Amino acid sequence: MGFYLKYFSLIKLLTLQRIIHFIRLHLLHVTIRLTRKVRSIVPYNLSIELSSICNLKCPQCPVGLGQINRSQKFMEPSTAHTVVDQFAPRGMVLNLYFQGESLLHPNFFEIASIGPKKKLYTILSTNATLINAENAKKLIETGIHRIIISADGIDQEAYEKYRIGGVAENVWKSIELLATAKKEQRKIWPEIIVQTLVNKHNENTLDEIKKHALRLGANKVNFKTMQIYQNHEAWLPSNKKFRRYESENLIKEPKNKCLRALSGVVVSSDGEILPCCHDKQAENSFGKVADGFVSNVQGEKRKEFLKTIYLSEQMHPICKNCPEAMKVYKK
Ligand code: SF4
Repeated sequence: MGFYLKYFSLIKLLTLQRIIHFIRLHLLHVTIRLTRKVRSIVPYNLSIELSSICNLKCPQCPVGLGQINRSQKFMEPSTAHTVVDQFAPRGMVLNLYFQGESLLHPNFFEIASIGPKKKLYTILSTNATLINAENAKKLIETGIHRIIISADGIDQEAYEKYRIGGVAENVWKSIELLATAKKEQRKIWPEIIVQTLVNKHNENTLDEIKKHALRLGANKVNFKTMQIYQNHEAWLPSNKKFRRYESENLIKEPKNKCLRALSGVVVSSDGEILPCCHDKQAENSFGKVADGFVSNVQGEKRKEFLKTIYLSEQMHPICKNCPEAMKVYKK
């Protein structure tokens, strides 16, 4: 019964304009390399960075390391409204995250509800350290469709190896609080997803993590390979299935196409429109939301970027550490 309700609720998010646009974009993706003609089409997947500030200090994250060299700020609510308004007619998926912790945003709940109101499948990824009984209820009330919770260890020792500054017990408790609030409000959304970055310190407890998460009320557990910038050997798990790297080198070569680049863009907290979540320093902006979201994503800068992805030998420098290009992303 729950399955059919979810299915029906997803169908209600579709409009004829969105379906036609989705098909056009996928046709373009499969034909670019044959025709060698690139067009920059409006994406159907948008990520907005509500905060470039975080409360943790994760050692492989530019924000956690204090290495982000752009402004540390919260997105203006007016920027969020403007970009989602322009994206929504052809858009399908709205991600409420990029760098930083979105729940720190003082207007988080107001912004989070924009996507569901516009019938966009809306996803939050959070370190979950700020979730308590009160805001768990408010999170469910926003109507968002998926909450991804970063939980990288059962006990504090394994957890804080990566999530420096977080408390494991609070993060696991947040799953229970969300599941309870969802039940009390008789909602079918959000799906509660636990995501674990597999590393040397937690790889022997993956079964335990999965059982614990499901027992607390999570709908699913994803195990993800880690993106590593430095000290590779200190983090790489022994299980090759969860490694993007052999020593410091990526395991595979770029594959010269990227649906993510064609179907999505990211808007940083200061309103810059970026190619994807791998442009963490916002060095490849296509322009600012204030100057027009649609005109910028259809503009020359994005077209040139997409040409580099689809038609050049080596793709783009930002693709060098990306599982999308390397196809070694494991669940
Ligand atoms: S870094 Fe490159 S391959 Fe990865 S998502 Fe971005 S554009 Fe695609």
